[in-house]
Amino acid sequence: MSLGMKQIRYEVIVIGGGHAGCEAARAAARMGLRTALVTMNADLIAQMSCNPAIGGIAKGHLVREVDALGGIMGQITDEVGIQFRLLNTSRGPAVWSPRAQCDKKQYRIAMKARLEQEKELRILQAEVAELVLEEQGGGRRRITGVTLADGRQLQAAAVVITTGTFLKGLAHVGETKVACGRNGEAPSNLLGEALRGLGLRWSRLKTGTPPRLDARSIDWNRFEPQYGDEKPTPFSFLTASIEREQVCCYLAYTNLRTHEILQNAVSRSPLYSGQIEGIGPRYCPSIEDKIVKFPDKVRHQLFLEPEGLDTNEIYVNGLSTSMPLDVQLEVLSSIEGLENAEMIRPGYAIEYDAIDPRQLDHSLQVKQIAGLFLAGQINGTSGYEEAAIQGLIAGINAARLAGQLDPVVLDRNSSYGGILVDDLVTKGADEPYRMFTSRAENRLHLRIDNADERLTPIGMAIGLADARRVELLEAKLRWKQQAQRLLRGNRIGSEAGLPESNSSDRPTLEQWLKRPESSINQLSVWISDRLGVNGSLSFLTTVETEIKYSGYMDRQKREMDRLAGDLQRPIPKGFDFESVPGLSREVRDKLKLVQPTTLAQAGRIAGVTPAAVGILHVYLNIQSVQS
Ligand code: FAD
Repeated sequence: MSLGMKQIRYEVIVIGGGHAGCEAARAAARMGLRTALVTMNADLIAQMSCNPAIGGIAKGHLVREVDALGGIMGQITDEVGIQFRLLNTSRGPAVWSPRAQCDKKQYRIAMKARLEQEKELRILQAEVAELVLEEQGGGRRRITGVTLADGRQLQAAAVVITTGTFLKGLAHVGETKVACGRNGEAPSNLLGEALRGLGLRWSRLKTGTPPRLDARSIDWNRFEPQYGDEKPTPFSFLTASIEREQVCCYLAYTNLRTHEILQNAVSRSPLYSGQIEGIGPRYCPSIEDKIVKFPDKVRHQLFLEPEGLDTNEIYVNGLSTSMPLDVQLEVLSSIEGLENAEMIRPGYAIEYDAIDPRQLDHSLQVKQIAGLFLAGQINGTSGYEEAAIQGLIAGINAARLAGQLDPVVLDRNSSYGGILVDDLVTKGADEPYRMFTSRAENRLHLRIDNADERLTPIGMAIGLADARRVELLEAKLRWKQQAQRLLRGNRIGSEAGLPESNSSDRPTLEQWLKRPESSINQLSVWISDRLGVNGSLSFLTTVETEIKYSGYMDRQKREMDRLAGDLQRPIPKGFDFESVPGLSREVRDKLKLVQPTTLAQAGRIAGVTPAAVGILHVYLNIQSVQS
């Protein structure tokens, strides 16, 4: 540090102003800790590096959970969303999930403005170059602050790193390679080097993005319009309704000519030429990947999505590519309606360093470095929503650590956030990790309509959820209980707006609602009149779901309780897995690497068989009898 530069003291430092960093910094500050958000470019806070949309299947659940805990992604999305759709409504309510196309520029502006309102939060535009660590003995270290590239030092008891794709970022467009964090921004090489020097395990991952087109050069009449929902479903429990102007998206298709162009040029793709070493997401393949992996498909669907209300940029969802520029142009011109399309930005792929997240504990703290938390893409995930929930969890726990309080850990049975963290710290991320509803064991319980019931009490207890949120939850629980009583205590008949039943034994409204063809919408006016509801009727969705699915939910709960009894058995900290007889070398190594804290977590480690968990269980029982 140069002379004259004074050290600045904070309680929490967050490195990176992406989707993880915004939630982390805002949560820590909201919980009363003096917090610094250090980011490379303050104008690009909350930049959407890829598609201008939040939510989607399972991702929408994550945003609801961020919101229920007291985070801000849901509120900002509601503020700047330009097309809302509730996905999966043809299936059960457990998998309904909101998605919103956003005005990309407005998202950044709204998020920055929100952060600037936070009393304890300071935004610093700077590059973090190094971490300042102190030895604690026994191989453990503790973080005490960071050094900026300009020589300044910032001190804090806890630091959250949320550097996304910036660590040793390398972008590819065909044969051209450029070192960058994402489109046109410098990579974070200094910090990348410093982190590599800490002796942690890293991997190289990859993601990609499609070209952006000029709306004026597209023949819009040739596509099928895709409108949003007439009545948009907000993300935030605080949003009563969405009033902003909504836009239309369009459906387009590739064709055999497109596929031929891509097939002929596959050898020039950095993915197939060996130029890209990082592992990409299987579930989100580039267009060249789709052509190679699904050679029999005659067309692939594309969505043309406006990036905002006052821009001509159109995002071509489904056409992610790192093909050379000339191939990208040829591909575009082969698509009906895009024959004359002008490209504003080419698609590209980016490789970056990601940590092996099995080196983190469930609070997202690095096991070997006290006070150092990691969140977002750096942990091997992909997606704004996955980043946001991790940022929130890491920010909460950084604040708890700085305030000398116990960590907050979300469990798998009560949230997708808990599943995500547990998967990461237990199984690692061999490829960019994204959330799916199929990852949840207790899916019927983890719905978008009850995220507030599951998580707002936690947000409230830790000083993150504000009074308004708590008030709304209390009102919802009150209305819900009264509606349930009403449905249980009344029988079908014209007084409830339903046809009179001839049967002498008329079913109660609750029994009637269990029928697949019955809907609570038929009773909503009657219920709201009887109860005198003066606010939102969204609580009726929860009432209906809980009645309709009560049989399944009870069964699932009994099963979970049974498993929880056995498998929640804790494994003592520092337990010697080498001492357990009968385990294979591979299983021992995996257990030592992850250091699971319960039998359930041990069972979720890839390669740890149920038989191995059984041996561990018996051994722990014997040990506890002997001690
Ligand atoms: P980011 O949003 O990347 O934010 C990182 C922040 O860290 C930035 O503000 C940066 O300035 C800051 N920073 C970095 N280094 C330093 C430093 N040393 N000092 C200070 N600040 C620093 N997700 C999907 O779900 N689907 C996709 O198809 C998809 N495609 C993508 C394509 C591309 C090309 C890219 C780049 C990303 C893509 N993503 C996609 C991923 C998505 O953008 C990320 O998952 C998400 O933005 C991660 O959030 P984050 O907060 O972890 O990091």
